[in-house]
Amino acid sequence: MFNITIDGVAGCGKSSLADELSRRLNLKKFNTGMVYRAITCEYLSRFKGKPDKEKIAKLLSLLNVDVEFKDGKQVVFVNNHDYSNVLRDEEVSNMTPYVSGYDELREKVREIQRNFAKNNDCIMEGRDIGQVVLKDAQVKLFLTASDEVRAKRRFDQMKGKENCPTFEEILVDIKKRDDEDRKREHGAMIPAKDAEIIDNSNETLDQTVARCIKLIKERR
Ligand code: C5P
Repeated sequence: MFNITIDGVAGCGKSSLADELSRRLNLKKFNTGMVYRAITCEYLSRFKGKPDKEKIAKLLSLLNVDVEFKDGKQVVFVNNHDYSNVLRDEEVSNMTPYVSGYDELREKVREIQRNFAKNNDCIMEGRDIGQVVLKDAQVKLFLTASDEVRAKRRFDQMKGKENCPTFEEILVDIKKRDDEDRKREHGAMIPAKDAEIIDNSNETLDQTVARCIKLIKERR
């Protein structure tokens, strides 16, 4: 199978890049952040505060995760519950790095990810895909952009909506989430040694897509 991995910092456009590459190269796509977010929603429905080993063991003992694709749209069911509407809520975004920091839980998700990649030519995006999950992927991209550019993009998307945070609040959240994702013991966000680092701070999506397609075609 032909597998492309896209890892990178929060809010740097991994999903938009994966969408475009999947459309133009006719590859399936798998958003792994959605899986960790959905599991975190289930966690939040049962527990209070940050996770610890005991809470994660309890969660795992009753956890059933199903990832389905309908007309190319990914839906994650956790214990038969579809959390799509709340996956991007601030509370979920902020708690996910803690819940996803446990290796026993990551093992369960890795199995789903590897099974998908084994059966599909695909693009998989996340934090540890090139480095840990799909070490043999043919193309590995690590996407990044400056903190300020990412916060500005997110702010522009949310401007005018109810409860829109300020630019400064978004900037703080982005930095904190990256920091948690980088420093944790399991599933740390580290570029694979053979990953191409793509800084898109000064590019449009089209420019980044064109650059990546060139690179992918050279490797394919
Ligand atoms: O990609 P997204 O921002 O939706 O990811 C949400 C969170 O899920 C990340 O901040 C990270 O803590 C976790 N995640 C992970 N491993 C992945 C993808 C996401 O730990 N492969």
